Amino acid sequence: MDASSKKFLYKYLNCNSPTGFEKAGQEIWLEYIRPFVDEYITDTYGTAVGIVNPSAEYRVVIEAHADEIAWYVNYISDKGYLYVIRNGGSDYQIAPSMRVIVHSSSGRRIPGVFGWPAVHVRDKKEEPKPKEDTITVDCGCQSRDEVEELGIQIGNVVTFDEYLTELNRGKFLVGRALDNRIGGFMIAEAVKRIRENNIHLPYGLYATNAVQEEIGLKGAEMIAHKIRPHLALVTDVTHDTQSPLYNKIKQGDISLGKGPVLITAPAVHNNVLKLLKETAEENKIGYQRAVSSRATGTDTDAFAYSNSGVASALIALPLKYMHTTVEMVSLRDIEALIELIYRTLLEIKPGQDFRYIK
Ligand SMILES: [Zn+2]
Repeated sequence: MDASSKKFLYKYLNCNSPTGFEKAGQEIWLEYIRPFVDEYITDTYGTAVGIVNPSAEYRVVIEAHADEIAWYVNYISDKGYLYVIRNGGSDYQIAPSMRVIVHSSSGRRIPGVFGWPAVHVRDKKEEPKPKEDTITVDCGCQSRDEVEELGIQIGNVVTFDEYLTELNRGKFLVGRALDNRIGGFMIAEAVKRIRENNIHLPYGLYATNAVQEEIGLKGAEMIAHKIRPHLALVTDVTHDTQSPLYNKIKQGDISLGKGPVLITAPAVHNNVLKLLKETAEENKIGYQRAVSSRATGTDTDAFAYSNSGVASALIALPLKYMHTTVEMVSLRDIEALIELIYRTLLEIKPGQDFRYIK
């Protein structure tokens, strides 16, 4: 990874881009990808697309989602405590004792903490559970008026005050929102590789950073109808199952460092999956396999089931501790996934017809 890629990685991963408020992240992403594409478009809700060969008839999407899970301020008590509800699949269990940032409507970052009753005073028989009506954010205010004087309002988003770090001499990245801003990083790097190697693609490439995935694939649904692609290669993260309390029988046998995960699922087109596997094997890129029954739960579903059906596949990055502040990924897997997307883009032919029955 060169210095400019690394600078982008940290800047992009450390910004806040909660579902519905992705503007800041999208601006960083667009600024980075702009030199590598011919033009870009954005849609009403903030999905951003960097396009190579915009006039080409055949359209290929590589995709990631730009949003991160967060909390909404839902109620402010007389004593000045903020009660929050989830924006996306946030985890009540991990909230107590965490530091947070409340994002005011005027763009101010107001610090706070998720407090929790002391171990000394809790009822041992009936330990309180972190949930919607028990966790509260304390911004150092003792009344609702004081909270409002700080500029906090109902509907403000709250994110954990956590940032990207490295473990084991840089082998692993740890942080908040690697799900799935690391995908935005990887697709941008694939496009950069195309440009730096002077590759002239014979089709239109649409690097798509979609908003609002965490609340049900909404950004991908919107942009799929706008782009009307012929093929979509979607990135997201998937569970590493090596750490304690995971279940390989139920969740598959996936390990950080063993390469990208190619998912089999009804929405994943088997002919696209075959192309990915063959490309990985020809280029000696190690990969892992996993299965999703019914939906993949990723933007793959949104693309596959749009526009009367779009040939789609899911390339997942193994990740530990999803939806916590210590999500963990392997730098080797990131490099392998970028290379797999890049090599696959070189294989795709304009007009390529993936239909099962011709
Ligand atoms: Zn997620």
